[in-house]
Amino acid sequence: MKQTKAAETELTIEEKLRALFSLQLVDSEIDKIRTLRGELPLEVQDLEDEVEGLETRITNLKTETSEMEKSVVNKNTEITTSQALIKKYEEQQNNVRNNREYDSLSKEIEFQTLEIELCNKKIREFSVLVAEKKQVMAEAMAVLEERKHDLDSKKSELDDITRDTQKEEEVLIRKSQEFQTRIEERLLTAYKRIRINARNGLAVVSVQRDACGGCFNQIPPQRQLDIKSRKKIIVCEYCGRILVDDEIIKEK
Ligand SMILES: [Zn+2]
Repeated sequence: MKQTKAAETELTIEEKLRALFSLQLVDSEIDKIRTLRGELPLEVQDLEDEVEGLETRITNLKTETSEMEKSVVNKNTEITTSQALIKKYEEQQNNVRNNREYDSLSKEIEFQTLEIELCNKKIREFSVLVAEKKQVMAEAMAVLEERKHDLDSKKSELDDITRDTQKEEEVLIRKSQEFQTRIEERLLTAYKRIRINARNGLAVVSVQRDACGGCFNQIPPQRQLDIKSRKKIIVCEYCGRILVDDEIIKEK
């Protein structure tokens, strides 16, 4: 901590103001690049999430549908078995020795007939469900195609912007970090806080035509003189932004 204090005292107020203003100019350039990219990164993320969700949904529907189709096949096999049994029982009925045997076979036939009915009922139910699921799946697939198309175009749009600006942004970020190391912690925190709250991310503004460059309120002449003297860090009494005179950056 002592060392930082020593480094701080090496900077005069004027140098601090200059460093702050330089930082602001660099950060504003970074803001400009990010504004250009705008909502695109978020939109791409949203579309990626949606595509993933739709793909999962379609996979699940496919699994459910094929399970049901398998069940239909199984029910058809059961029907064939029952039909064979009925045929067998009917043949046996021709060779019975008494009524009791005949009735017993009749009961078996009745039971298998009911089994077949039950299977047919299940098959009808499954078929309706399969048709419904296939309909839902077709709709989901159409939406998926649309979203994938959107995602591709948004992605390439973002890639174009990123490719054009990435190098520039990296250089600016390095510059910003370099300026930040020159500014004392307390002042830097204040700068960042003002920047977050301020419209357009402006924490340090110059005096323009006797007014604050951030909120455009008039600055009294005496205060303007104080700003020009660069002996104190002065903030706008209306918006709280740090005020500098325009010349400070040019004189370096
Ligand atoms: Zn202001």
